[in-house]
Amino acid sequence: LGEKLQKTLGKLKGKGKLNEKDVKAAMREVKLALLEADVNFKVVKNFVNKVKERAVGHEVMESLTPGQQVIKIVNEELTNLMGEKESKINFADNPPTVIMLCGLQGAGKTTLSGKLGNLLKKKGKNPLLVACDIYRPAAIKQLQVVGEQAKIPVFTMGDKQDPVNIAKAGLEHANKNGNDLVIIDTAGRLHIDEGLMDELGNMKESINPNEILLVVDAMTGQDAVSVAESFNDKLNIDGVVLTKLDGDARGGAALSIRAVTGKPLKFVGMGEKLDDLEPFHPDRMASRILGMGDVLSLIEKAQANIDQKKAMELESKLRNQQFTFDDFLDQLEQMKSMGPLSQILEMIPGMNKKQMKNLNVDDKELVKIEAIIKSMTKNERTDPSIINGSRRKRIANGSGTNIQDVNRLLKQFKETRKMMKKFSSMEKSMKKRGSMN
Ligand code: GDP
Ligand code: MG
Repeated sequence: LGEKLQKTLGKLKGKGKLNEKDVKAAMREVKLALLEADVNFKVVKNFVNKVKERAVGHEVMESLTPGQQVIKIVNEELTNLMGEKESKINFADNPPTVIMLCGLQGAGKTTLSGKLGNLLKKKGKNPLLVACDIYRPAAIKQLQVVGEQAKIPVFTMGDKQDPVNIAKAGLEHANKNGNDLVIIDTAGRLHIDEGLMDELGNMKESINPNEILLVVDAMTGQDAVSVAESFNDKLNIDGVVLTKLDGDARGGAALSIRAVTGKPLKFVGMGEKLDDLEPFHPDRMASRILGMGDVLSLIEKAQANIDQKKAMELESKLRNQQFTFDDFLDQLEQMKSMGPLSQILEMIPGMNKKQMKNLNVDDKELVKIEAIIKSMTKNERTDPSIINGSRRKRIANGSGTNIQDVNRLLKQFKETRKMMKKFSSMEKSMKKRGSMN
């Protein structure tokens, strides 16, 4: 970075310690992002208060704006809250390791049985799946299909036996057949009910699993909290698997569950296929929940104190080639408080660095440009094509510049419009091509 640019940026960035106003403004956006991600509101409230406490008085880094600094803290806290690093499965010292899956109906337990077996088989385990969902029609068949796909044996006793007995028999079967890993697929209900909880409780008592994983659908959002609470109260779970994160769910459930149960998230389901299982990464989830990009850009926009409505009007004018010298002047006024012209132009969608080079904007020119535009009549500003030779002379005289300066500005202005025209027609043809595919 050039020294001059550094200085200019410095004005916008790092300014001592974060004050309450900076923090409050940034936290408003964070709060919205969290609620939008379907994080439980109580969890949001606690979290926001905690971060506010930590952030006020915090040193602002040279390279960040106060808003960005707050977001950085938020991201760190969020990552910490969800566990600093990925959590692993607790394997038994004396095999077999028994993993019991629980959760509501449709959460993804049966699918996870296959995925988890598949993943751990690749790591050298010799898994057995045990079918303990005797209630849902075709549940056993579903597990058998999953087992076939993963080439993992499935133990079943049909749907006439008690699930607790099936689990016990499954364990014996594993012992006899040398399976060092047993994954128990259990039944779910549409809602938490006592019958289900008792059954799971009894199963836990009699087989004493190494790991009880709660499977939760990422899309459940708010409901996840009460679900996780009930399962954890009854079973004292060891970890959570968040499924269906391949959809558009922001994953707020991850934060809520972690906050309420204090139990680690261990895996995330990223699709219906066997291989669509990934270890849980707290940092990635933090960014996902915050929608980092969104929040950051929002805050930056607020920081740049640009009048957003005006910016949007400007954008639409540029696209429709209605951009006039008056708009140009308007921009200049705003820019005075904002820093280098090239930076502002970068914020206009569709502008890129190369195009800006062609425009050849120089901050020193700004004063001159302003004078020239102010010497134009209303009509000239709206329709620069009427600016002929004699008008140019008049404008140059009025602005204390010369004809070359006026010509240069007119040319730059024409270029800008032409570029915008090209850009929007390019966009149109791209859209057309897109719709043909
Ligand atoms: P269970 O009732 O808890 O056993 O749930 P299932 O394993 O039967 O899954 C319910 C539905 O969710 C099925 O259609 C699965 O294919 C689907 N599913 C499970 N996990 C995922 C996932 O991570 N992503 C997506 N997109 N679908 C999933
Ligand atoms: Mg199932």
